[in-house]
Amino acid sequence: MARLGFVFNVERCNGCFSCFLACKDEFTDNEHLPTAAATTEGVNLIKVNEVEYGTGTKVKVDYTHSICQQCSKPACMEKFPEQIYKRPDGIVIIDPVKAKGMQEIVGSCPYGAIVWNEKAQLPQKCTMCAHMLDAGEKVTRCFECCPNQAMLFGDLDDPNSEISIYVKEHAAELELLHPEYGTEPNVYYRHLPKPFICGEVVCGDTDDCCKGAKVTCVCDSCGKKMETETDFLGDFEFRFLPTNEHFTITVEAPGYKPATLKAKTHGSVNLGEIVLEKA
Ligand code: SF4
Ligand code: SF4
Repeated sequence: MARLGFVFNVERCNGCFSCFLACKDEFTDNEHLPTAAATTEGVNLIKVNEVEYGTGTKVKVDYTHSICQQCSKPACMEKFPEQIYKRPDGIVIIDPVKAKGMQEIVGSCPYGAIVWNEKAQLPQKCTMCAHMLDAGEKVTRCFECCPNQAMLFGDLDDPNSEISIYVKEHAAELELLHPEYGTEPNVYYRHLPKPFICGEVVCGDTDDCCKGAKVTCVCDSCGKKMETETDFLGDFEFRFLPTNEHFTITVEAPGYKPATLKAKTHGSVNLGEIVLEKA
């Protein structure tokens, strides 16, 4: 018994699409029965989404992955127990023979991870390259092809596996997608796009960028305090903030009066130019 899963580290992914292309190469027009029938054009088992956020020139671009979450309590399997089964290693498989012609299976996944192959008349999804694992390989094609170590793959139930050690060490920064669905997904994400607060500090008397100013950001609800310093351009930012929270930002620099601002993270907030007055 095992519980195979993935971790996607968004911060390490540069959107090279190698995982996507490797998956296409592995499955397009390639039959891997009994776990997977061949896919065709437009049938993508893993998707890389470009996410742009921020305002004005202060924007970020991240890449997130949409893929079957290999749930411990799969909603798809609950609805279609004849056609979908879970292997002892935790991989959820749509039987390509029993599911033939059943387009209604597509809607059974709350994550939208099942796609319809019109040509083959089959619902399909990621099989975690079960055919490769059955042939003795240790990892999936997408994992093998990532040049940036942006993903981990392995047995989440093995306390000595790299993935479970990583999950334990980074628990505070990891997220599951929609745990409220109750399907107990086995795919973790680290550093998913979140609101950030940024600004640019300027010395009022000289109009120069204020380098090395101390900037603190305090959450008005929980009191959590974060600190940073402006860089050589006077820029600062606070990342991975919760949505819809109120924050108080204070900027202090020797010889200047402190400046205090308020921000709400309905999205990312660009405080713009903050001009410090001489003390
Ligand atoms: S993500 Fe969707 S398709 Fe994958 S196991 Fe969970 S419910 Fe099933
Ligand atoms: S191969 Fe790695 S770096 Fe490239 S898009 Fe996929 S996860 Fe990101």
